[in-house]
Amino acid sequence: MPDYQHLIRLDKAHLWHPFTQMQDWCAPEHEPLIITGGSGALVRDQHGREYVDGNSTIWTNIHGHGHPRIIAAIKDQAERIAHVSALGFTNEPAILLAADLVALWPAGTLTRVFFTDDGSTAIECAMKMAIQFRQQTGQPERVRFIAFDQAYHGDTMGAASLGGVAVFHDRFRRLGLPVTFVRDVEELRTLSADEYTAVIIEPLIQGAAGMKTWPDGMLGEVREWCEAHDVFLIADEVMTGFGRTGKMFACEHENVVPDFLCLAKGITGGTMPLAATLTTERVFRAFLGGYRDTFFYGHSYTGNPLGCAAARASLAVFQEEDTLAALQPKIALLKDLLASLHAAHPGEISVIRQCGFIAGIDLTREGTGSAVCLAARTHGLLTRPVRDTLVLMPPLCTTEEQLRRAVEALGAGIARTT
Ligand SMILES: *Cc1c(COP(=O)(O)O)cnc(C)c1O
Repeated sequence: MPDYQHLIRLDKAHLWHPFTQMQDWCAPEHEPLIITGGSGALVRDQHGREYVDGNSTIWTNIHGHGHPRIIAAIKDQAERIAHVSALGFTNEPAILLAADLVALWPAGTLTRVFFTDDGSTAIECAMKMAIQFRQQTGQPERVRFIAFDQAYHGDTMGAASLGGVAVFHDRFRRLGLPVTFVRDVEELRTLSADEYTAVIIEPLIQGAAGMKTWPDGMLGEVREWCEAHDVFLIADEVMTGFGRTGKMFACEHENVVPDFLCLAKGITGGTMPLAATLTTERVFRAFLGGYRDTFFYGHSYTGNPLGCAAARASLAVFQEEDTLAALQPKIALLKDLLASLHAAHPGEISVIRQCGFIAGIDLTREGTGSAVCLAARTHGLLTRPVRDTLVLMPPLCTTEEQLRRAVEALGAGIARTT
């Protein structure tokens, strides 16, 4: 068995964790969890304690940890070749995955796939395509983006320019790309479209804002405005993609096909870093021509065969296990469990929002989100809040019994903390 105390000392000496105040992390009384294993919707720590993975390992896991189908695909590909440069070469998993992704959309709509490594780079890629498209189609003045208040689209500089969460994004605001923020469709309609290339939205639900759901029909209205004014729609489905909302993609709930679709987190079932930006032939064609019309963009690991093989296996699991059909009764059960949770803690919970298999539970008392999640840990649930919103979005494979246990742990956490 590894010497976990030694590992923790090394972690505190050398690692810098994301979105983390390292002074708190490195404090002597903080004992980090080392996650040592996982199976299905459960993960295990260094003490052998098991937890329901209540936020799907930061919104990535889909079919559970250690899914044999996906593990086998990664192993098989690793034995052939682990990486192939997409710059000058191509590879079978990337080719077949691109075709698989395109096939999930109506024929002739989203037909082109550009691979990157994570959600932020999928957004960067869409932004650069949306700007360069305008330059190559005689509208170079259309350089601005429209984003929504409280939006989160990633942390690289371009993607962060589109972010509307003050504490993450404000300090970089004036250094980034030109963006206009709007609160809703009403405000969108007051803009004069001429200087904009694209609107970006997290369809149906804003994740990092605290699982904030949009009104029904809103996405369709944004789509209509975009079409009327020839402004691109970028759908950021980095969180909502791959079944999380109850359909394969959130856009399907409102029969919307965007001009750019950004996918990451769940694309490999939560196993490998991979992302994709899908777009249309109209966009693609504007980049055909001479050397200067080329899309000069890419990453060293673009189209990585291990990631693409994992993603193809994850899509195969959706078919073989009929994942989306099996999910529907669990979405209904989650609704009932959340209603009971609210009824049991009327003073502690203000609002509960649910979108498919994603729940956001607003606590009334400020500053209690982290404490409730820590208390829920001792009842077998791992999750992270967004400020005072508890997040529950376990893998789609979570069993009904595990789902009950997860919501019970949240209830116990709330009771312990308040
Ligand atoms: C997580 C997330 C991103 C950023 O993805 P990374 O892989 O963390 O770079 C972008 N958009 C949304 C909606 C996300 O949830």
